[in-house]
Amino acid sequence: MPVYVEVALPVPLRRNFSYRVAEKHVSALAVGLRVKVPFGRQQLIGLITAITDQCDLAENQIKNITQVLDTQAILPDALYKLTLWAARYYFTSQGQMLSQALPVALRKGADTAPQEITQYCLTSQGQAAQVSMLNRAPAQKKLFDDLKDHPLTHDEFVSLEYSKAALKALEDKGWVERKARTITIDLSWRQQLDITETPHKLNKQQAVAVSILNQQQGFNCSLLEGVTGSGKTEVYLSVLEAILKQGKQALILVPEIGLTPQTINRFKRRFAVNIAVIHSGLTDNQRLDAWRQARSGQAAIIIGTRSALFTPMLFPGIIILDEEHDASFKQQEGVRYHARDLAVMRGHYEDIPVILGTATPSLETLQNAISGRYHHLTLGERAGAAQKVKQGIIDITNQPLKNGMSSSLINEMRMHLDAGNQVLLFLNRRGFAPALLCHECGHLHECDRCDAFFTVHQGLNEICCHHCGNQYAIPKQCHQCGSTMLMGHGLGTEQLEQALTTLFPTYPVVRIDRDTTRRKGSLEKQLHGIHKGEYKILVGTQMLAKGHHFPDVTLVGLLDVDGALFSADFRAPERFGQLYTQVSGRAGRADKPGKVLLQTHQSDNVLLRSLLRQGYGDFAREQLKERQLAQLPPAWHMILIRAEAHSAADADAFLTKVSQLLPQDKAFEIIGPIPAPLDRKAGKYRRQLMFQAKTRQRLQLEFEKILNLIEQLPETKKCRWSIDRDPQDLM
Ligand code: ADP
Ligand code: ZN
Ligand code: ZN
Repeated sequence: MPVYVEVALPVPLRRNFSYRVAEKHVSALAVGLRVKVPFGRQQLIGLITAITDQCDLAENQIKNITQVLDTQAILPDALYKLTLWAARYYFTSQGQMLSQALPVALRKGADTAPQEITQYCLTSQGQAAQVSMLNRAPAQKKLFDDLKDHPLTHDEFVSLEYSKAALKALEDKGWVERKARTITIDLSWRQQLDITETPHKLNKQQAVAVSILNQQQGFNCSLLEGVTGSGKTEVYLSVLEAILKQGKQALILVPEIGLTPQTINRFKRRFAVNIAVIHSGLTDNQRLDAWRQARSGQAAIIIGTRSALFTPMLFPGIIILDEEHDASFKQQEGVRYHARDLAVMRGHYEDIPVILGTATPSLETLQNAISGRYHHLTLGERAGAAQKVKQGIIDITNQPLKNGMSSSLINEMRMHLDAGNQVLLFLNRRGFAPALLCHECGHLHECDRCDAFFTVHQGLNEICCHHCGNQYAIPKQCHQCGSTMLMGHGLGTEQLEQALTTLFPTYPVVRIDRDTTRRKGSLEKQLHGIHKGEYKILVGTQMLAKGHHFPDVTLVGLLDVDGALFSADFRAPERFGQLYTQVSGRAGRADKPGKVLLQTHQSDNVLLRSLLRQGYGDFAREQLKERQLAQLPPAWHMILIRAEAHSAADADAFLTKVSQLLPQDKAFEIIGPIPAPLDRKAGKYRRQLMFQAKTRQRLQLEFEKILNLIEQLPETKKCRWSIDRDPQDLM
C-alpha cells in the first residue's frame, strides 16, 4: 500500500502539502520529523504533520519526498502542539509557525544532535617540539601555545579567530592532529547544585511570594507585580533554586538581552550551572549550540529574548517572563505572535508554572490577575533601604525653555549634581532635531517616501527618515525656496547632549540611544562608566527606562511627554503610564531618596494627574474600566488587517471587500478601512481594518470561516496584506 505524508512547509500558503513516500523511507517515518521535499523548482525542508495511506491528488501530481532528516521528532510533544495551536490562533500556516520555532541552522538541515565534534590537539611530536622554531611565525606560535594548554574544538577555533593557514602549517609539520571527540552530556547539576553566592535574606513580601510560588505544582500562572527595585529578580532566583534542586530546567524570557547584561550576570553569579543565553546577536551555529544544550538538559537555565520561547527543554520546570508588559515580546513582522501569550500556553502544554513579572502590568495580564485566573503576588516596597520617589510636574506653558529645559529643571539639576549625585534626562527622540526647518519660508523637509519628517543627525551630517531608513547629507539649501537658512526644529537627544555639555561643563554627559549603542559592546562600556561615576548626566531614550539599576541617580527629568499623551493609539495612556513609572523607577534605588520631574504643557491632563496621584496600579485599573466601556482589548478581542499598495485605492478596495465578508451582529464591530496613522511609508499607502469581537471563540470561528474567501479575492493581487491578531501597535 502506498504511504503519503502531510508536510508543513515554510511558505505563506495557509495549508500543508502532500507527498508520497518511497519504500525505502517508510520505516523511518514519524510525525514531527524534518523532511526535504521538492517544491516548485526548489527543495524545501518541512515537518511531517501526518502519515496516511491515501491522498486526494492524482498520482501524476504527487511527488516523492527527497530525504528524511531526523530519526526522532525534532520538537518535544508539548512544543509541537504549541506551534500547531499558535498557527491556528495567529491564522498562519503550520509551516510558517514551525519555522519560527526552529533555529535557522535546523531550518537549513543541520543535525539536531551531532554525536561527535572535531577537536585539534598536539601530537606527541608536537608535545616534544621546540617552540622557539616558531619565533618567526607568530600566528602558529599563538595557536601552538594555546594547544599546549588544552585542545581546541573546531567551534572554539573559529570563534577565537585563529589562523587557518597557521593550523595547516602545524598539521603539515606533524605537530597538530584532528580528533573526533564524542560529545558527552553533563547533567551533574541535577544531582548536585552549587550555589555560588549567598542570597539576600528575603523581606516579608518576597518570602510570601516565594513560598506561594514554591507550592505550585503543574500549570498555573502568576503575576508578580513589584515596583522597580522591589526585589523581583531576587524572587526569581529563590524560586529557581527550588526548581533546579528538583533537577528541572528554567526558561527565562527578557525583553532585550543587550539592555540587561547585569540581570544575566546575577543568574550566573548565583548558580554554578550551564546557562544558555539566546538572542539575536548569535551566529546560526551559536544559536544551534544553545538550542542543543537546552534540549539535552545540559543547560539548566535558558535566558533569551522573544524567540527563545520555543527552546526545547528535556526537563521543563518553569517559565519566567520578566518585564511582561514590554512591547518587544510581540513580533512585529511575519507571524505576529506574542511571546507572553504563547509562554502561558506553553506552560499549559508542558504542565509547568509560569511567572509574569513587572512593575507595570499590561492591562491584559492585570485583567487575568483581577479575575482570578492568575495568582496575583505583589511586592509593594523597595527592597533593602531604598526610599519612595518624590514627584513633581513643571508646567512649561509660556515658559522660556533652554534646549527644551525649563529654568526650574536646570536649577534642580544643579542642586543634585553639586551634591555629588547623577541626573537622568529622558527624551524619547533620538537625533539632533526631529525636523529640518527653513527659517525663511517655514518649509519642513519631508521624506519623499513616507508621510514623515526627516530627523536631523548633526554628528553624521545626515538627515534620516526613521520610518524607512532613507538618508541624505544635510541639504545646504531649502528644497522649496533655495534659502540657505536651514535649522533643526525641535529637540532630539543629540542636541540635548550638546546643550548640557555647554550648560554643565564640569559634569560629564553620556547619551544612550540607538545611535550611540549600535557598536557591539558600546552599551556595556557606557553602563560601566555610569556605575563607576565617570558620567554625571545621563541622557537617553526609552532604552534607559529598561531594567537598569543606577544607584547614584537621584533626579530623573522627563523633558517632553505631551506627544505620548495625545497619540491616536488606544494603548497610548497605558504605554505612557508604564514608561513614566519605569523611568521614574530609575531614581533613588539605593539609600538616596529620588525625585522625578515631568515637564508638560498639559499639567491639568486628567490621565497625568491620576497617574501621579494614584500610581500605576490604580491608574491601570481605571484604564481597564475605560477599555471595557469602549469595547476595546482586553475586554473585547481584536484583529487588525493591514494592506499596503502603490495606490491607496487598491488597498481600500481590498479591505472594503474583506469588511463585507465579516459577520455583522451585536457581538462584532468593524472599523475601517481607514488610513494607518503613518499613511504612507517607503512609498506605499497603508490602510487598515479593525475587526473586534466580544468573545475570543467567536472571533476565531468567524474569521476562520472567511479566511479562505479573503485569500481568493482578486484584490489581493494588487496589494500586500497581513493579519495582526491582538495588535499592540496600530502604526
Ligand atoms: P527588581 O528586579 O524588582 O527591580 P531586584 O531584585 O533587582 O529588583 O532588587 C533591587 C536591588 O535590591 C538589588 O540591588 C538587590 O540586590 C537588592 N535586594 C533585593 N532583595 C533584597 C533583600 N531581600 N535584601 C536586601 N537587598 C535586596
Ligand atoms: Zn525655504
Ligand atoms: Zn521615509
